[in-house]
Amino acid sequence: MSIRRICSLIGAACFFCACFLPAAQAADAIGSGAKAFAQLGQELPTPNAYRTASGAPGHAYWQQRADYRIDARLDAEARRIDAKARISYQNNSPDALRYLWMQLDQNRFRADSLDQRSRTTSSDRVTYRNLREHQAVSPNTLGYTGLSFTLDSGEALPFVVVDTMARVDLPKPLQPGEAVTFDITWGFNIVQRDTVRSRGGYEQFDESDTQIFFLAQWFPRLVVYSDYEGWHNKAFLGSGEFTLEFGDYDVSLTVPDNHVISSTGALQNADEVLSPAQRQRLASAGTDKPVFIVTPEEALANEKTGASGERTWRFVAENVRDFAWASSSKFIWDAMVHEQPGAKYDRVLAMSFYPNEAEPVWSKYSTHAVAHTMDVYSRFSFDYPYPTAQSVNTWEGGGMEYPMITFNGYRPDPPRAKEDDPEAAESRAEAQRAYSRRIKYGLIGVVIHEVGHIYFPMTVNSDERQWTWMDEGLNTFLEYVAELEWEEDFPAFRRISDSLVQETNVLDMIPEYMTSPNQVPVMTQSDSVLRLGPNAYSKPAAALTVLRETVMGRELFDFAFREYAQRWKFKRPTPADFFRTMEDASGVDLDWFWRAWFYTTDHVDIAIADVRAYRLKRNDPDFDYPLDREEHARDNPVPINIERNRAAGIVPRESRFEDLKDLYSDNDRYTVTNKDRNDAAKAYDKLEPWEQEVFAKAIEEDSIFYFVDFDNLGGVPTPLLLHISYEDGSTRDLELPAEIWRRDAMAVTHRLIESKPIASISVDDRHQTADADYSNNRFPPRIHESRLAVYKAKTKKRNLMADLLHELRDSGKVDGDEDDRAVPLDAADGR
Ligand SMILES: [Zn+2]
Repeated sequence: MSIRRICSLIGAACFFCACFLPAAQAADAIGSGAKAFAQLGQELPTPNAYRTASGAPGHAYWQQRADYRIDARLDAEARRIDAKARISYQNNSPDALRYLWMQLDQNRFRADSLDQRSRTTSSDRVTYRNLREHQAVSPNTLGYTGLSFTLDSGEALPFVVVDTMARVDLPKPLQPGEAVTFDITWGFNIVQRDTVRSRGGYEQFDESDTQIFFLAQWFPRLVVYSDYEGWHNKAFLGSGEFTLEFGDYDVSLTVPDNHVISSTGALQNADEVLSPAQRQRLASAGTDKPVFIVTPEEALANEKTGASGERTWRFVAENVRDFAWASSSKFIWDAMVHEQPGAKYDRVLAMSFYPNEAEPVWSKYSTHAVAHTMDVYSRFSFDYPYPTAQSVNTWEGGGMEYPMITFNGYRPDPPRAKEDDPEAAESRAEAQRAYSRRIKYGLIGVVIHEVGHIYFPMTVNSDERQWTWMDEGLNTFLEYVAELEWEEDFPAFRRISDSLVQETNVLDMIPEYMTSPNQVPVMTQSDSVLRLGPNAYSKPAAALTVLRETVMGRELFDFAFREYAQRWKFKRPTPADFFRTMEDASGVDLDWFWRAWFYTTDHVDIAIADVRAYRLKRNDPDFDYPLDREEHARDNPVPINIERNRAAGIVPRESRFEDLKDLYSDNDRYTVTNKDRNDAAKAYDKLEPWEQEVFAKAIEEDSIFYFVDFDNLGGVPTPLLLHISYEDGSTRDLELPAEIWRRDAMAVTHRLIESKPIASISVDDRHQTADADYSNNRFPPRIHESRLAVYKAKTKKRNLMADLLHELRDSGKVDGDEDDRAVPLDAADGR
């Protein structure tokens, strides 16, 4: 019997014999449950006509609208954009607006920007990155130039630039229901790839002196004016992203004529910019596999021949909150069709754009990952709402989303061969073929993530600058769902490599963060979050995974989550709208969950502190007293001094002098007398008839009463998923809901009535609650067995595919030419 001890117990009156907490702890415990389970009253805004208490848009919900017609020219030589636009701004608010605010994100790269001037450092040191950024920013040649705002009447509008924003003063207030149309001009020098941490810019390929241009946050955009914040005036500091107004875009992009463009929207003039063969390939795209529109060979030719002039590509996008594009002479382009019968766009083009340097992984995985994302995300939300979904290869570590277009890093590892190596070319080709596990899964993961953002927040338009978690958290959660549907052991979390530990379960990964010092709650403004990755990405993803798989169950969770997505697509939700909708649609009170996971830095750590087992006393002194005597003897061993007296040969005086003996000498307090028997009978007679009946039945059943003490060491209330093993080898699972913590959130005792002896009890064996310490989840505890490698400071890096290819080649099983392209995408057949 491994349960700690067995006692007996009399009737139902003394059920509360659990150990008592020390006084200070007891004082903390009082009210802890009430606090943990208090409704989110003050934390959430008061419902109103725009946003209801149920979490849905209210009857008076409104949002502004901004339509853009843009003409832009990319000067690839000068790395510069010059552009003009006509903007039509529709005031749907009930308020008259005397001025408009515009976002000027490129101004963040100015030496005197709020971002640059508010940098802090944690130690006295300077890195190469610091130096590079300083050198890029200090000439002050970045940021917007040539800004002008003009009414369509020709009247110039005065404006004031405030860091990354500009206030544009209107000649007369824009009344509710009115629209204003105005023209703007602007230009800027494009920042070189992450010299300054940026989401766009250009990447330079020195060997071929070619570039890929990523144009994001590249035009003055309307600041959001909302019912809950008025103008969202908050400078761009780099971390907090954006929130924007929806509108239609008609954009003409003039670029060198050897460039290919990937862009938000649908291409309007394919006949002017694509060859007949390319147009035919685009039309032939199907649902099986990607086809090349621009082949690797054509991309190489574009890159080598250079530009002979310019060409204008025109794209139209309906109901988008932003517009981004990429342009390069290096782009390979492939496409496949994602079908969604009955949707507004029933045949969506999933497409990828990448240089030859990105092969062979990109043609193999990118577009399939785009299509897979739509398969999974649409099930959880709504049909993909646009005609195209694109993945563009950007520099290492990149990953950024815009409507219909995403910029994604990951290319095969750079060749390791030295320049003077005679076999350099072959080694380089081999190194590129032998992409690492990190590149493969990194690529698939980032494409799913960024394309997922086209749903959240590009369609469900939450405010990224205030709440990173609302898009990153929800999106990371769905990315995780999609990754496990791509491959069961997808290394979804942590660093991915052949030599490092991989985590497939987010709930095993997140406790490390949730138990770390220097945390802030998930409900923290984006620019003030410490450790954005775990705070705004994986912790909310873990929380939603716990909600779906453990607290609510899939049926209720999926219905409520989809309801949230449906209610707020093309609208502007706040955290309260999400919290309220998830409760409203599921019928599950989740305030305690939001409070613990989103408003505190507590973590999950449940311990089984103690288990006590009892059988009922029979109210029969002849049966009960001898057992009492046995128990007392067991729990009170003979004092050591008596044992030592015996060993020393000391015979007690009472034993040496017969005369000293009396009745007490032969009878202890467990001796049964007739009075005891009569008293027991009288006590039984005094019981109510129903009490006698209940008692008789209980004695007959001879159940075992277990009192299990649970400690909540981490602070987050959580359901207790018990696995009970019996001495006869059988088992049973039992789920105690989180509401068990509603009175005392720190320590509770639960009573189990069992018909057979328990051997052990454990909690959360399947790791589905994010428990930080499993060593205290089992009673009785168990010695943990594993193996140790003798410690050595450095482990060698592995690239499994490189090693395997090497071995196969050495053994003659692969002939170099045959394996030249791991991807069987064949340009020649014109797919
Ligand atoms: Zn993201």
